[in-house]
Amino acid sequence: MLHGMARALTGSPGSRMALRVQALTAWLWLAAVGAVLGPSPTVAADAIQLKPVAQGIYVYTGPHTDASGSNLGAVGNIAIVVGEQSVALIDSGGSLEFGLQLRAALEEITDLPVSHVINTHMHPDHLLGNGAFAGPTVEFVGHRRLGAALAARAEFYLEAGARNVGPKFAGTKAIGPTREVADSIHINLGGRILRVTAHATAHTDNDLTVYDRRTRTLFAGDLVFVERLPVVDGSLKGWLAVMDELRAVPAVRVVPGHGPASVRWPSALHAQERYLQAVLRDVRIEIAAGGTIENAIGWVASEERTKWVRFAEDHPRNVTASFTELEWE
Ligand SMILES: [Zn+2]
Repeated sequence: MLHGMARALTGSPGSRMALRVQALTAWLWLAAVGAVLGPSPTVAADAIQLKPVAQGIYVYTGPHTDASGSNLGAVGNIAIVVGEQSVALIDSGGSLEFGLQLRAALEEITDLPVSHVINTHMHPDHLLGNGAFAGPTVEFVGHRRLGAALAARAEFYLEAGARNVGPKFAGTKAIGPTREVADSIHINLGGRILRVTAHATAHTDNDLTVYDRRTRTLFAGDLVFVERLPVVDGSLKGWLAVMDELRAVPAVRVVPGHGPASVRWPSALHAQERYLQAVLRDVRIEIAAGGTIENAIGWVASEERTKWVRFAEDHPRNVTASFTELEWE
């Protein structure tokens, strides 16, 4: 993630402050790693860089890797939206420790309080930093099905996080919504109103998007993947249907759940739609021919293999999930 530093140096004062936080954090991290491993650390130091993408909007860009000690479990994108009276955080990272570092980076940008933590869905890289922002005046906003999803999965997420992130995962809790969204709501940050919309089952069964009308920025959570292979943990057909609805949002840019901090809208959808349509088409062919999941994994959407990061790791589970969904059509 350090490759982004050159870009940040030419950015706004906000980005220079974020860079200072990054440099300090990186130094502390290297010092801590050095204390454990001796003079030649083998663990790369990642640090929190908040990139300005529009007026009052900053984005942390997650790396295209698995959760680990070096990224503190924060492999998804996170956005900060600054109003005139308060700040909304859209997703919070993968551990309490990451959330605390994010909070310190945020405090370099603004003195305004965080009034809302909006979780775009249940996945741990988007939600397990919530604990760093908990307080009596903070609302945790989530899809009406987020609480139930966390009740079913939180134990597994916390076990996996402890295993993958290691000792720095200590103290992490899965904090669910205090304000549930069934359809859509508006959040007022003072002179800036965010529209939060709950969607039907797509990437998961609890996906939310956020739209900032002032800058025409859409925060899509994992309903939009760029570069990193989309992961189907809800419904393939549902996701394609939700994408049709999203295309109508009059945004000029999107902050995807994974990928670059800011991408042009709606062209950001093209590659994901091509991949998901290919999976739909080919899995239907395999099912119609009386085939198996194992066989489908071997050829379905194989022309997409070189077009995505983590295809080998995540494509088989997408085929498996899609086959199971489509065999009952
Ligand atoms: Zn996700």
